[in-house]
Amino acid sequence: DAPADLLQQALAAIRPDVRAMSAYPVQSSAGLIKLDVMENPFRLPAELQEALGRRLGAVAINRYPTERTRELALALAAHAGMPEGCDIVLGNGSDELITLLSMAVSQPGACVLTPLPSFVMYEHSARYQGLGFVGVPLRAEDFELDGPAMLAAIAQHQPALIYLAYPNNPTGNLWDRAVIEQIIAAAPGLVVMDEAYQPFAAADSMAWLRRHPNVLVMRTMSKFGLAGVRIGYLMGRSELIAQIEKLRPPFNIGVLNAEAGLFALEHAEVYAAQAAELRAQRERVLAALQSLPGVQVFPSQGNMLLARVADAAATFAAMKARGVLIKNASSAHPLLANCLRITIGTAEENTAMLAALKESL
Ligand code: PMP
Repeated sequence: DAPADLLQQALAAIRPDVRAMSAYPVQSSAGLIKLDVMENPFRLPAELQEALGRRLGAVAINRYPTERTRELALALAAHAGMPEGCDIVLGNGSDELITLLSMAVSQPGACVLTPLPSFVMYEHSARYQGLGFVGVPLRAEDFELDGPAMLAAIAQHQPALIYLAYPNNPTGNLWDRAVIEQIIAAAPGLVVMDEAYQPFAAADSMAWLRRHPNVLVMRTMSKFGLAGVRIGYLMGRSELIAQIEKLRPPFNIGVLNAEAGLFALEHAEVYAAQAAELRAQRERVLAALQSLPGVQVFPSQGNMLLARVADAAATFAAMKARGVLIKNASSAHPLLANCLRITIGTAEENTAMLAALKESL
């Protein structure tokens, strides 16, 4: 009948490669201890929540976003210590910035390169924009960059865009700085240092940004403690940021989000204390996992730990049945066979997670 035909026609107008894709999966977490997506488990203290409520209540939500968004961008740049000659662009999460970067380099024959396993959106976004994608496996034993393989792939594929997640997700490690220097020197296009986990790491790519005009540094307020607010930021030479700025939807940061971001930066010391507690918890959980027979755990500079067990699918399901949601990373890449990714939570959540894991092995 006619309506069904029209639906078929409309569907046929969608790109075949898009129709063949599956949507980004978000696990249901109702009633579970949520240690699956590297959120900061801490809320603001009650008095700050109330103060934030008053601030948000005073925002004119009848208006499109104003220069307040620019104030947030400049406050983030100051917070990050952005060097002279650089500029900053905000995204609705760094996810949106990854989309804008893909759009910016998308032309026939262009490709994106990143080590694997790494953050999945680099590849998804490249494919959405019709770009080529080159993934170079990390070293199996320690998830360190394979320097010669990276340099060979760069020489062969001439990527327009290279992503280096620093620290990496899901492996949590910081790669060898000397190898990164070689990659930056060999790159024919842009190199994005994705420092999403910077609050938990001894990572800082600002020196690279200062020295190398092809480097961009991407950060996010998500891991800082504002995952729900969706604010990512990208810093680089003004000339490069000006190009990304052209592709940014003009009002991509909502007025409430911008105000919440500014409020959070005014209370940066609260978030710094939370990050310090999570780093301490990470070391505690690392030691506990190291003492568990049948678990191989990898040291991390992020707010997560990657652990290999005998049967990740079974352990994941058994932990979920005990009320703890983590991520089974196994299917993301062959190097992650039987690997679980565990986000660091509060002391109580980590205690519950460790108990559930012991019972589930
Ligand atoms: N980069 C990395 C390395 C990540 O792991 C993530 C999310 N887990 C992001 C970027 C995206 O973060 P957001 O969109 O919340 O800013």
